[in-house]
Amino acid sequence: MQKNEPGLTVVRNPATGEEITTVPALSEPEVDAAIERAAGAFEAWKVVAPGDRARLLRRFAAAVDAHTEELAGLEVANAGHVIGNARWEAGNVRDVLEYYAAAPERHSGRQIPVPGGVDITFYEPLGVVGIIVPWSFPMAIAGWGFAPALAAGNTVVLKPAELTPLSALRIGELALEAGLPEGVLQVLSGKGSVVGQRFVTHPAVRKLCFTGSTEVGRSIMAGCADQVKRVTLELGGKSANIVFADADVELAAARAPYGVFDNAGQDCCARSRILAQRSVYERFLALLEPAVSGVVVGDPTQEATEMGPLISPAHLATVASFVPEDAPVAFRGSCPSGPGNWFAPTVLAPVDPKHRAAQEEIFGPVVVVIPFEDEADAVRLANDTPYGLSGSLWTRDIGRALRVARAVETGTLSVNSHSSVRYWTPFGGAKQSGIGRELGPDALDAFSDVKNVFISSD
Ligand code: NAD
Repeated sequence: MQKNEPGLTVVRNPATGEEITTVPALSEPEVDAAIERAAGAFEAWKVVAPGDRARLLRRFAAAVDAHTEELAGLEVANAGHVIGNARWEAGNVRDVLEYYAAAPERHSGRQIPVPGGVDITFYEPLGVVGIIVPWSFPMAIAGWGFAPALAAGNTVVLKPAELTPLSALRIGELALEAGLPEGVLQVLSGKGSVVGQRFVTHPAVRKLCFTGSTEVGRSIMAGCADQVKRVTLELGGKSANIVFADADVELAAARAPYGVFDNAGQDCCARSRILAQRSVYERFLALLEPAVSGVVVGDPTQEATEMGPLISPAHLATVASFVPEDAPVAFRGSCPSGPGNWFAPTVLAPVDPKHRAAQEEIFGPVVVVIPFEDEADAVRLANDTPYGLSGSLWTRDIGRALRVARAVETGTLSVNSHSSVRYWTPFGGAKQSGIGRELGPDALDAFSDVKNVFISSD
């Protein structure tokens, strides 16, 4: 396999292993130059009139919309996303831009009653914001960062993952074509240890918005402490899908594969632990088997395909390490053989809740099924990992739904559904799944500081 030349990264198609193109791997001086351009552009961008900033963001959204098919095609080729998902992701970038395009005229401060004058607050932009993105959802996650950051008046340097830079680089070009001034949004491809690390250490970068593994997130948070740099962290997960005996067990089993195998399980919100109440455990497994073999795995360019390949040969090896020869495989789906990083949907049961497969984020199409006794046991097991990103619970009892939803320590949770993300509702993690919230009305605050001003009337 061809190695990267200095200054260049080879980009591959994970469904075939073939090289698509090469992109620049920027050096530290090149990153510094880009950060300085962003700092210069900030001086003009922060004083653009709110209505004008809003108009530019709407134009940017329209440019993304006009290029949906092209952007989706890049994500299929570069990330192995199935075409239906990739179109949704391009549409999500557009929607997030449109949503935050409404913010510049509305992100207003307060007037607080004080004696002897007037007290008012302003939301001030922070300056240059560094956004670091993983390979799992390259363009959607980039948009969750840059749209509110730009709307709040910041300039952005964005680092895509080495494996999946193509959609973000194209979005950077579309921003310029839509009329965003030079330096307001720059996409900088290259290594995490060079480009990403410089965002951490460069004093002109005032905030880091990182999505990726808990391990790297921890080191970024430690690095940011040096300059008391603000951070938002969206990290790993090991979410639970809890199926109570009083649920529509047929529906819960039919939907369970799509709560964990979407994007080949390379989803921070993957419900990779199914907790099934013991009285329906065997029935649930019997219903799950045909649902898993029904998942259509294959060529991601085909409309009917539901699951594509894993991102890289190295990641395939990591995922496979969770399913050794003697693993308790209950049943598996199918996948293509031959070139590409293929792994069939796999169900492990029975699995001890303390086993590595039940504790660590696998980030692949592998799910464990664990029985539980009662409501308290379900909550105890659901909370028994260091993570707390997402989760689902299935029950017909509304009181139980509310009690368990409040008791499970996660940032987002869905009842009788596996949905996690709507661009107008907050998203983020509890415990070691992260700090801060993206999307929805809360995200703007993460890209602003509150300034308090007192004006004497004496
Ligand atoms: P990763 O942590 O290896 O890399 C993420 C990004 O950080 C990449 O752009 C990488 O180049 C960069 N990076 C790596 N080392 C760095 C360093 N020392 N300094 C600065 N930047 C550095 O993660 P990944 O393998 O790309 O993605 C998978 C992980 O992302 C999973 O753990 C998954 O759960 C997590 N994730 C979380 C969310 C969420 O919203 N919570 C969403 C998607 C993915």
